[in-house]
Amino acid sequence: MTIELKPCPFCGGDPVEFTYSGSDCVGCKDCIAYLGGEESDLTRLQLAEAWNSRAELADAQAEIARLRGALEVLETDAHFIFNNPPGETSQDVRDVIEWFAGSIRVALEQAK
Ligand SMILES: [Zn+2]
Repeated sequence: MTIELKPCPFCGGDPVEFTYSGSDCVGCKDCIAYLGGEESDLTRLQLAEAWNSRAELADAQAEIARLRGALEVLETDAHFIFNNPPGETSQDVRDVIEWFAGSIRVALEQAK
């Protein structure tokens, strides 16, 4: 059984399966990232799963960074909007901004 390998968690490069000194490895074509080798007793399938779980962790970390950035922008913009004279920004807009910011805060809290 083979599973499709995700892109390299470090550089996004193409993954490759290879044998080194008679041991199975999974690595990246574009950087030095690899798993397996002489010290490893993992099967090809276990190596592929480990590689993909690392890639999923990298995806999750990238998503957290993106959400943090979005929250920062939102809070900066919301601060500006909330400090405008009353009447220039409708309550609906304020409510929507607060809802988005709240949703992002919840997502970040759950990601911890
Ligand atoms: Zn790489």
